[in-house]
Amino acid sequence: MADKLLSANEKTNEQVTSNFNLKELEFMDKIPTEFLDNARELCRNLQKIRDAVGKPLNIISGYRSLERQMKVNPSAPKSKHLSAEAADIKPPAGMTATELHKIILDLIDKKVILNSGLGLYVKDNFVHYDIRRDASGKGTPARWQGN
Ligand SMILES: [Zn+2]
Repeated sequence: MADKLLSANEKTNEQVTSNFNLKELEFMDKIPTEFLDNARELCRNLQKIRDAVGKPLNIISGYRSLERQMKVNPSAPKSKHLSAEAADIKPPAGMTATELHKIILDLIDKKVILNSGLGLYVKDNFVHYDIRRDASGKGTPARWQGN
């Protein structure tokens, strides 16, 4: 696959919630059909985060092919980005990644969104959220702090 952003008409244009379209999870790689349900579930959770934040969220990374993952983060070969279950979210202007992270933790505590993967990247200014689940569909928690 080429290192080239998908053009607008190459992306999967499917509006899932009021503010999230599947195309927002696509950058260089189109989401394979087998992962579309994951991507839809991710959008439903992202919508709850967006509603709590009250401002548009800037998704800076969504679905990644294995080839892409090996280029951007080879230390995580089982990343949830590979199955369209993860998004890296840049906080809106006026909000820090730490503040966005806290809002997401609060939504998890209130069981508004799945209690799954959450990583805070203060210096790089984004929060990774994913919807990793067990076989029954229940979220499996993971927390970490990156750069
Ligand atoms: Zn991520």
